[in-house]
Amino acid sequence: MNHLPTVIIGAGPIGLAAAAHLYERNEDFLVVEKGGRVGSNLLEWGHIQLFSPWEYNINSAAKKLLHTTDWREPAADELPTGKEIVEEYLEPLSSLPQFSGKILLLTEVIAITRINKDKMKSSFREESPFVIYAKTNGKTKKLEAKAIIDASGTWNNPNPPFADGVWRDEDLKKRVITTIPNIKAEEEKYKNKHIAVIGSGHSALNTLIDLSHVKEQYPKTKISWVVRKERAQEAFGGEESDTLAARGALGTKTHNIVDNGVVHLFSNFYVEAIEQGDEGYNILSTEGIEVHGVDEIIVNTGARPNFSFLTELRLEVDSAVESTPKLAPLIDPNLHSCGTVRPHGEEELRHPEHNFYIAGVKSYGRAPTFLMTTGYEQVRSIVAYISGDLEAAKKVELELPETGVCKVNLAPKNQLQIVSVHGFGDGSCGC
Ligand SMILES: Cc1cc2nc3c(=O)[nH]c(=O)nc-3n(C[C@H](O)[C@H](O)[C@H](O)COP(=O)(O)OP(=O)(O)OC[C@H]3O[C@@H](n4cnc5c(N)ncnc54)[C@H](O)[C@@H]3O)c2cc1C
Repeated sequence: MNHLPTVIIGAGPIGLAAAAHLYERNEDFLVVEKGGRVGSNLLEWGHIQLFSPWEYNINSAAKKLLHTTDWREPAADELPTGKEIVEEYLEPLSSLPQFSGKILLLTEVIAITRINKDKMKSSFREESPFVIYAKTNGKTKKLEAKAIIDASGTWNNPNPPFADGVWRDEDLKKRVITTIPNIKAEEEKYKNKHIAVIGSGHSALNTLIDLSHVKEQYPKTKISWVVRKERAQEAFGGEESDTLAARGALGTKTHNIVDNGVVHLFSNFYVEAIEQGDEGYNILSTEGIEVHGVDEIIVNTGARPNFSFLTELRLEVDSAVESTPKLAPLIDPNLHSCGTVRPHGEEELRHPEHNFYIAGVKSYGRAPTFLMTTGYEQVRSIVAYISGDLEAAKKVELELPETGVCKVNLAPKNQLQIVSVHGFGDGSCGC
């Protein structure tokens, strides 16, 4: 089996970082990507500026490879957009000769299993190669692997607007907007309309700020913001205390547009129904409150993992968070105010299925606190383990920028560190 590659699902930042680490360790790899370009999920929100500067967004193994070419490293303190991450980092990385023929684009993984073994069969399971079924050009191809790193993200599986977490009909999914729309480029669609934004993570804050600019030009534009949180304050994060200034600024700007009345806030609002009325959509809460006559609904409530192609593998998933059970207590917003996160690696991400890992934002399940730099450390540790370097796999080190919301307990280097981060989804951390 050792002659087989490690197959990585998804050519996002974490999938490609895993590839760079595998290359560094002389391990064969193959990246399978359903989009037509690497970083295709980032391109869907390409107009959004990240709040973490380049310093945190480039993986160390990838950087080493890129520096063997004439690649110009972006300034460490600058904030890229999603598109710039792809064009100035991921595409140059994927174009390296070391990656030639190792990335299959327009190829979607639809199932993973083991050769001649369904989920029930235990004997010689660990010795049996993985089989990956992937769709490309309408045909299903079969690939084999010695290990799998699933870095397929969560972007394409958005959470619903409803408080009970269920998408009640597929039709509604098509009528509301579940992406972070490029409002500047589509101003016509939003000007002088009533737009409701549901959700309180950073995606929602970005959307609200962009809409406020439309309202500056077209004052009849009405912006309603629907959040479950009791107090909007909770969505603004650490503001000026955040060590990532751009992340703090998102909260501060939103705070201002709420205080100035540009955005009408509906807090403690648990969405029960969305109905088509005579004057647009009516959004109803479980308490009977109504946001009336809405033209466009933007659902920015985060995303959740898709396990549909993993059903023949032996996974162990926390019943609430949908990460591995070892990772769950570290990131569960029910347990931690603001998602305190301890650095973690292979051990916390291990499933009963030997040599199968979920990494990147998907590894966090439904928890909204993922940062790229966390994912880079995950794949460094996983790859060390797959290549037999157990010591390096265990030595997990990571320093994350603080949100300024929660207390931070900085332990001596190489020991457990508690750091706080803030997420992108529904911001459901109850801080
Ligand atoms: C608006 C926004 C802003 C963010 N800002 C920051 C920030 O400032 N700093 C930060 O650290 N993090 C930020 N994040 C969080 C996180 O770092 C990103 O979401 C990042 O893209 C996660 O990387 P990933 O590689 O895990 O997943 P993704 O980037 O989502 O990549 C997954 C890839 O897998 C592919 N794929 C999916 N399913 C399949 C399949 N079945 N078969 C084959 N391929 C598949 C997808 O097409 C995609 O290319 C932000 C997220 C969002 C949404």
